[in-house]
Amino acid sequence: MTLRGRLTSAFLVVVLGPVLLGSVFVALTVAAVSRDRTNERLDHAMTTVQAAVGAICGQLQAAADAVSVVPPAERAAVADQLIARGLAADIRFGGEQPSVPPDVPTPRMAVPGSVFSQDSAGQAGWQDCAAPDGKQVTALAASARAAGVSVLAARPVDAALLRRLGDTAGVTVALDGLQKSGGTIRHVGAGPGQPLPLTLTLMPEKPTFRYAIIIPLIVLVTAAVAVVAARWLARSTTRPLGDLAWAADRVANGDLDTRVPIPRPDELGRLAGTFNRMTRELQSYVQALTASRDQLRRHLAILGDTLSSTHDLDRILPVILRTAMTATGARAGLVLLVDETDGSLAARCGTGLTGEWDLPPADLARRRLVTGRGVLGAVAASGAPLRGAAGVVAEEPACESYVAVPICAPPSGEDQEPGPGTLGVLALYDRLGSSAFDDSDLRTLRTFAGQAGVAVHNVRVHEEAQRLSLTDPLTGLWNYRYLREVLRREVERASRFGRMLTVLVLDLDHFKEVNDTFGHPAGDQVLGEFARRIRVGLREVDVAFRQGGEEFVVLLPETDAYGGVIVAERLGALVRDRPVDLDPRRPGLADRTSISVSIGIAVFPEHGETAQQVLDAADEALYAAKNAGRDTYRLAESVSSRVSEGNFDPAPAGSGPQQPRRTLGR
Ligand code: GH3
Ligand code: MG
Ligand code: MG
Repeated sequence: MTLRGRLTSAFLVVVLGPVLLGSVFVALTVAAVSRDRTNERLDHAMTTVQAAVGAICGQLQAAADAVSVVPPAERAAVADQLIARGLAADIRFGGEQPSVPPDVPTPRMAVPGSVFSQDSAGQAGWQDCAAPDGKQVTALAASARAAGVSVLAARPVDAALLRRLGDTAGVTVALDGLQKSGGTIRHVGAGPGQPLPLTLTLMPEKPTFRYAIIIPLIVLVTAAVAVVAARWLARSTTRPLGDLAWAADRVANGDLDTRVPIPRPDELGRLAGTFNRMTRELQSYVQALTASRDQLRRHLAILGDTLSSTHDLDRILPVILRTAMTATGARAGLVLLVDETDGSLAARCGTGLTGEWDLPPADLARRRLVTGRGVLGAVAASGAPLRGAAGVVAEEPACESYVAVPICAPPSGEDQEPGPGTLGVLALYDRLGSSAFDDSDLRTLRTFAGQAGVAVHNVRVHEEAQRLSLTDPLTGLWNYRYLREVLRREVERASRFGRMLTVLVLDLDHFKEVNDTFGHPAGDQVLGEFARRIRVGLREVDVAFRQGGEEFVVLLPETDAYGGVIVAERLGALVRDRPVDLDPRRPGLADRTSISVSIGIAVFPEHGETAQQVLDAADEALYAAKNAGRDTYRLAESVSSRVSEGNFDPAPAGSGPQQPRRTLGR
């Protein structure tokens, strides 16, 4: 059953039920009152009838008495007069002992109009008022006796008399046994003074038009009005609910523009108003969410592109920071990375910062925080995120609320353990539109810190791989691959700016003997020490390379031949002057050995116009130094002067007792 049907039924039960019950009660009451009234009327009618019959008996008795006392000669005349006056219908007189019925039927003169004819043979059914016998009733009679005469006055009990009695009493009067059926009956027994056995009948009142038609009509109309009113009430109550259900259905299907009319300022009107407000707020919330999602999607796309396309942290970290701020609605943010040299926290990028931290990127990059101190330092030191409101230490960005998470390297290996140490800290400040960051923001930020951790880790791994690919693991010097790149770059730079570049090629003398005497590991030790001494003997701008085997190259930017010779002399002395300490594996061997180096010098552009030509010229000079007896240097020959002598045991290139190796160990 629908709500409307239930409401209709409820209204009808509530309204029509009491009305019908009341109607039944009223009907029962009216019936009881009517019955009482009928009894009262019958009582009254009985009294009236008894009185009327008594009065008739009195008249008859008076007539009989009057006739009995007059002289015999006048009796007939008096009787006639009395009959004429209506005191009796018949008066008879005769012998001494009249009785009722008269034992001596005494003829007398007939009275005109009398109901009793002169010929009436007797008085059967005459009821003496004084002593009725209750037999068949035909007349009322009264008798009198005086001076030897008995007189009998009578009046017939006929339909006229009974009708008159009925009219007087307001009921239908009939002799017992002769009443019509129907109606309420009351018997009046015969007795002295009222000798008639009568039945009084009070017929029920015939329903009038008012009762027969109007009242049922009113009841029907009232019932119909009640039904219509109930349906209207139910409908007007349920229609707004139906509208609301329809609107809720549309909203559930995603149509957030749906609104319902507000019919009246009642409870349903309030419900409709609240529904509209709820839908409106839901719509704006969804719009905000959609906009935020789109913005976040754009940022994530940028982040994805950035992460996949570059190893430049200065590009990656700002994108991660901006995306994290968008995702959490933060006003400002800061990324700091741990400086591996001193362990401090170095600011890498910031957005929305105020006060002392509102700096251009170059200045911001100089801001440092101590690991272990303050909120950010504690996060970096402990590796645990922190979240709170205000109270940040003075040197950190001022804020109302903050959340800071560590940037950690991604788990490595099968055990998925987190990477060692904390790489940095990602911090956000002051969430827009809300007082503080919640757990959800913390989780979001940890996700982005994970991205930052992966990026930083990747960059560091990349840098390390690049460094490893360009350096020689034994000596720590740059390798041949990097030599080619740097030499090409330096020659190009020197060519563009009209500068000179000096190239030294160094080769340890008789190194094979070191290996043969002390073993290969001792040879490695000598190579490492030799490289260290080269580094010591160079300026910061000079670069040393291990070209291969025991051959090395040194580039001296902005240096001419003279400068190159000075460096060659210094390096030769550094190698020669102090023996190299060894860790000999073989017992009985010396724990140190002396070494020397031969050096070839070539200068750009004097000895070659390309990187390769300069390198080849230096190689030629080295060959000359070897030929000159080793532990010396030679300058490459230029067109004007092919040979130049070194300060220590110089010899012209291309001469000398021993042939140096021509291959460069590449
Ligand atoms: P020279 O004075 O003519 O240069 O004589 P040399 O013995 O130094 O020259 P040679 O080319 O004959 O020998 C080079 C030796 O260097 C041969 C090789 O065993 C050794 N060598 C090359 N690379 C390494 C290395 O990485 N470690 C060690 N221990 N020895 C190396
Ligand atoms: Mg060699
Ligand atoms: Mg050698």
